[in-house]
Amino acid sequence: MKRSIFVSLTLAFFIFANLPALSFVPPNPAIAQGHGGAVASVDRDATKIGINVLKAGGNAIDAAVATTAALGVTDPFSTGIGGGGFMMIYLKAKNRIITIDGREEAPATANINLFQDPDNSKGENLTFFPNRISNGAAVGVPGTPLAWSEALRRYGTWQLKAALRPAIDLAKTGFKVDATFASQVQTNQARFAAFTSTTALYLPNGKPPVVGSIFKNPDLAKTYQMMSSQGVQGFYQGKLGQATIETVQHPPTIAKPSFRVIPGGMTMADLGRYQVQLGTPIFTKYRGYKIYSMGLPSSGGTTGKEVMNIVADFNLPKLDRVKAWHSIIEAQRLAFADRDRFIGDPKYVKVPLTGLLSREFAKNRRQLIGDRAPGKDFRALPGNPLPFQNEASVSLTTVDPPLKTNQPHDNSTTHLTVVDRFGNIVSYTSTLEQIGGSGIVVPGYGFILNNELTDFDLTPNHPNRPEPGKRPRSSLSPTITFEPSGNITAYGSPGGSTIITTALGIGFNRMDFGMSLADAIAAPRISQRNGGVTQVDSGFEKTDVGKGLIALGHVLEPVPEIGAATGISIAPNGRITAAAEPIRRGGGSAMTVKR
Ligand code: GLU
Repeated sequence: MKRSIFVSLTLAFFIFANLPALSFVPPNPAIAQGHGGAVASVDRDATKIGINVLKAGGNAIDAAVATTAALGVTDPFSTGIGGGGFMMIYLKAKNRIITIDGREEAPATANINLFQDPDNSKGENLTFFPNRISNGAAVGVPGTPLAWSEALRRYGTWQLKAALRPAIDLAKTGFKVDATFASQVQTNQARFAAFTSTTALYLPNGKPPVVGSIFKNPDLAKTYQMMSSQGVQGFYQGKLGQATIETVQHPPTIAKPSFRVIPGGMTMADLGRYQVQLGTPIFTKYRGYKIYSMGLPSSGGTTGKEVMNIVADFNLPKLDRVKAWHSIIEAQRLAFADRDRFIGDPKYVKVPLTGLLSREFAKNRRQLIGDRAPGKDFRALPGNPLPFQNEASVSLTTVDPPLKTNQPHDNSTTHLTVVDRFGNIVSYTSTLEQIGGSGIVVPGYGFILNNELTDFDLTPNHPNRPEPGKRPRSSLSPTITFEPSGNITAYGSPGGSTIITTALGIGFNRMDFGMSLADAIAAPRISQRNGGVTQVDSGFEKTDVGKGLIALGHVLEPVPEIGAATGISIAPNGRITAAAEPIRRGGGSAMTVKR
């Protein structure tokens, strides 16, 4: 990957250097350095909107909401008011970190039969693609509207109305369709075409929008305007909520969709009950770094902390890179076995967190790591954290450990990072789950509903099984790290369960391998999730480290893209580096308020 960045930059230099009118190297839009505040997101229009909010005096929370609202227009298949997410906020003056859990919630009707196929006489579940992901039953109560309004009310300086204004203008005037947007519609064309509302918005004339054309979403502008004037009550109790419920209960399908679309049971009572949860992050101390990551019901923080605990005694910088990555991969394998066995919504299951996250348990797990990788059919069994729990109340009930292969990873979801002139930081990951969520646009309102409930596990008695009012286990991993140098670095990524290994990879690249933030983000991803094979960015398997890992018995599976991340690092003197992806997902956009 680094080589390909080098190649593209060299190529760009060559092309530009040979044009008489442009005899300069164009700035890389994915990296910005300066001061006074910064934004890094996957999209230029959205980043620019965030920067304008900061320039107009807004703080990081105001800018994060405005940027995400803009992404709801330009990146509507990854985020939007029909979905959920986790926001981490660092309040500089109070020196506090707060997390806002705006995760989607199951309706009161949810149970283990959530995705049972009505046409299947054996009571089997719907096949995953496209049936299980594209229907009303997969839709969880959206948390994003309330997360925005609570973040602003508690920590922002702008009203929701002001924060939504730029996105309303963007939705009305439109933006230029890029290759990523067009290809995301194309990949989802078959399931989008099953819904009249989605076809009307995203398949004009039956085809995906053309790259370079201007795309407008006046319905979404109207919806944001309604939220501006009525507040988010309109979403949870009013007309907007009624339209959402109608869509969930009666998905607007064409006469004969090519696959079975089941309705969902969500009601206005489910919407009215929804609350965002304020929480504290998971804290890890690793080689002098203080890392704050996302708590339950995300498994991001717990799994990340367990991996760091396991490798803590290996002293990775002293090892050669192949051995260091071998240790990380094996630690990931073990931590994912524990994640799959123990993590669920803590309001519903007793998660033995103290034991799982203890150094002693990690020591126990570390002893299982050998000099070579186990075979590709090997699945690590979960450990037993209960002896390390020191809490009499934990249930000793056991369930059969689910032994999963790598779940298909998706590149939906989006992460943005913002810092303001005061030093407040927002690290915010939001999602619809699949690219294009459930594939269902709420007719007349211009936004897509999530399919987050497919993140539940349908194994009976599993801690992450569907239950009324429960939040599905997530992998979202917004992270903020306080570094021994005095730098504060915040980052996160999309990518399903690979989000966890991407956030860890960026962390290890900085903490142990001394990379700059931009290099840590651009570097190849290496993702082991107790699936036998280890997924890597294509091309990594041919590098020296890749070959070294193969020689140790690792089976590397190259995949086209893992985790289009963004991040920001602030030095003690106020100098900011903002970094987005140079290449993944078409490249992101980083800007600072002042150069
Ligand atoms: N729904 C996933 C989660 O919350 C994220 C989906 C994705 O990034 O592909 O963990």
